[in-house]
Amino acid sequence: MRALMQDRPLLLAGLIEHAGRYHAATEIVSRQADGSLHRQGYAATASRARRLARALGRLGLRPGETAGSLAFNHFRHVELFYAVSGSGAVLHTANPRLPPEQVLYTMQHAEDRLLFVDLHCLDLAEALWLKLPALRGVVVMATRGEMPADRLPGALCCEELLAAEDDGYDWPSFDENAASVICYTSGTTGQPKGVVYSHRASMLQAYSIASNNGFALSAQDCALPVASMYHVNGWSMPYAAAMVGCKLVLPGRQLEAPALLDLIRGEGVGIALGVPTIFLSLLEHLRLNGGDLKPLARIACGGAAPPRAMMEQLWREHGVRTIHAWGMTETTGGVTFFLPRGNDRLDDFDLIELQGRPAYGTELAIVDEAGRLLPWDGKSVGEVRARGNFIAAGYRGLPAFADGWLPTGDVGCLTPDGTLKLTDRAKDVIKSGGEWISSIALENAAVGHPAVAEAGVIAVAHPKWQERPLLVAVKAAGAQIDKAELLAYLAQRMPHWWLPDDIVFVEALPHTATGKIQKSELRRHFAAYRLPEPG
Ligand code: AMP
Repeated sequence: MRALMQDRPLLLAGLIEHAGRYHAATEIVSRQADGSLHRQGYAATASRARRLARALGRLGLRPGETAGSLAFNHFRHVELFYAVSGSGAVLHTANPRLPPEQVLYTMQHAEDRLLFVDLHCLDLAEALWLKLPALRGVVVMATRGEMPADRLPGALCCEELLAAEDDGYDWPSFDENAASVICYTSGTTGQPKGVVYSHRASMLQAYSIASNNGFALSAQDCALPVASMYHVNGWSMPYAAAMVGCKLVLPGRQLEAPALLDLIRGEGVGIALGVPTIFLSLLEHLRLNGGDLKPLARIACGGAAPPRAMMEQLWREHGVRTIHAWGMTETTGGVTFFLPRGNDRLDDFDLIELQGRPAYGTELAIVDEAGRLLPWDGKSVGEVRARGNFIAAGYRGLPAFADGWLPTGDVGCLTPDGTLKLTDRAKDVIKSGGEWISSIALENAAVGHPAVAEAGVIAVAHPKWQERPLLVAVKAAGAQIDKAELLAYLAQRMPHWWLPDDIVFVEALPHTATGKIQKSELRRHFAAYRLPEPG
């Protein structure tokens, strides 16, 4: 029997139309290139997205074709998300923090026909656009007065394009499985790989993170996504915020602690979303300068394992709850979340530091090196696999994943109730005498010491154990600590055989384009390093 329900595809443009109608005055606040704040409601955003969709048609962007963006988090990027995908074309959110040759590679690979560039990314656009013969035009996301005088000759002004259109535009209807956005993984080995999202997958991800088991978003919230819009669609916040009608505060390019604190205080941010580095730097700033995080009430943190000490400090000193989430570019965002049950305490950090359990829509499995399923016993460690409604089936131009599961490249175990506990990236594991040592656990334990700002652990060759851990640490500003003190601190918290064989203090650690410690670079740097002789 066929159901007698209306058949309406899950298309992303419907979100901004909904927000424009029912949350018309709720603001999107954006930090602009000159530092000033720009404000506009969802009604204006929906109207501008429609005008931009008309302009895209006039520029010859056809359904299924790709437009690239080189831009940070601000209202014009939100409008582009809706205008491009909503008109049936595909947005390639290029990552401006990748090396230029990799950005170029992704633009060629995604076959970008138009390029939208904000004022922060002009240098990069200038370096690349002449190498992209398939480009039909470059649009600068700025007012006429802000247009660069003698750069990018022939580039169009986004605000002039909008001014020339009216907002009468009917979003087309099409298959919800059509591509909406292409985002490239920040591959540290080899070229980046293209993940192609669908309208349906992003819509289901938005429902998931908006739900109480996700980030619990509502029309009463004010959210600050520090996660970049060129990285997994800003964790889908441009979609989820429109879905629930929450106020959106977008930091532009200014991600330093004072600028973020200014937004939190000035705009009444209740939830901020980002990688641990962001919140570590906020806490470090408060340690040196005093002050508090009010009115921030919770953070959604993932992208790397949040150190327990950071989460405890946020809770005990500032009353800020961490919603710990795990996901990746290939999963359209969050897959597992800290999902407290009736008896679970919100300050049970033994639980919160685990990666959490899947919200509805995904399944996880752990497999050994031969691909055999491992038991959910909290001990059997192997590679994590994922499948579900918003998980990639393969990469652009490459064969689909075998047997329908995404091989995540993450290593960990599942507890009997299905909680994910990650220990490493597959390529970062340290295998000592055949047993695994968790670099994540060691790094986070080290950062628990107040004098340590950041720590990265890599494997170095060892004649007897094959590999042993080397800890590379950055001291907190003005703090004093030496190797013996840090080792003694770790010895109280880690199994004895996990303790690093050496600790090296450095000025700074290398980071990837998405703010994670770049282990490959760290390994390269310490390639000639030899462990000290046991004394
Ligand atoms: P990306 O595709 O750049 O978002 O990176 C995804 C990877 O980040 C995952 O495969 C993990 O290795 C890591 N990651 C994300 N969230 C977490 C988390 N909560 N804990 C530990 N690692 C994480």
